[in-house]
Amino acid sequence: MGRGIIGRLAALAFCMSAGTAVALEMSSYYSPLNSSRPKRARTSFILLHTTEGSRKASLNEVHRYGEAHFFVDERGKVLRIIERDRVAYHAGRSMWNGETSLDLVAVGIEIVGYHDRDMTQAQYRAVRELIEALQKVYNVPDDRVIPHSMVAYGVPNRWHRKAHRGRKRCGMQFASARARGLLGLGPGPAFDPDVKAGRLVNADPELAQNLFGPATRMAPAVAAPGVRSPAGVIAPGVSAWAIARSEYNRPGTLYVFPDGRRVRGNEIRDWNAMPSGTAVYVAN
Ligand SMILES: [Zn+2]
Repeated sequence: MGRGIIGRLAALAFCMSAGTAVALEMSSYYSPLNSSRPKRARTSFILLHTTEGSRKASLNEVHRYGEAHFFVDERGKVLRIIERDRVAYHAGRSMWNGETSLDLVAVGIEIVGYHDRDMTQAQYRAVRELIEALQKVYNVPDDRVIPHSMVAYGVPNRWHRKAHRGRKRCGMQFASARARGLLGLGPGPAFDPDVKAGRLVNADPELAQNLFGPATRMAPAVAAPGVRSPAGVIAPGVSAWAIARSEYNRPGTLYVFPDGRRVRGNEIRDWNAMPSGTAVYVAN
């Protein structure tokens, strides 16, 4: 099934791996849903994912539901899950520069591992070759080869009043200069165009910092006059009390919500409704 395409990709990857000793090791393990998936009209992105689980459990799910085009295990072995020209569902609710539903215009690569851990050398090598081959086929520029977390977004919920970036941290580490270098990629995007344009708010300052560098470049809401940096950021299991201790409800303590609202400690009514991603500034 799809042998011509696959053969071409494998050959291409092989040619372009001339500088490395090992050719890309790739085989087919197509999802039962593969043949029912439509072809993409175009391909503008390559999205990088971390499975956030073990090889076995992740592969079962990705295969069963057709949630990626390629699956790269710890040893750098690549499995084809969905034919690369068809639609795979890996990005979920997603947006980049105003364009939504990126599954319809993106190739997805699932890499066994976790967003806060490094990949194996074998994975770097394999993913690098895979990206290079796909970029040749689809003409995707380096700054459109990006982590899932960069394009995922959430709709308003009890924690965030607005549509927000920060729904996922998937693949976060692939934004670093080091990782991109190892993947043969030039710099990624310097900022989040959807946050900049006000289509989304930044709900996860730590993620934004990982993806785009210093928070000051990213989220004007986070900078507080006269205070250098937040004492902490509220998250599941990290309360205002845990960060500010006895200062938590004082006027000198400033809470900057993910949507940019600023509220003093003495003005907050419902401490149980503090959204994750709120930066806490404590006066010294
Ligand atoms: Zn993902």
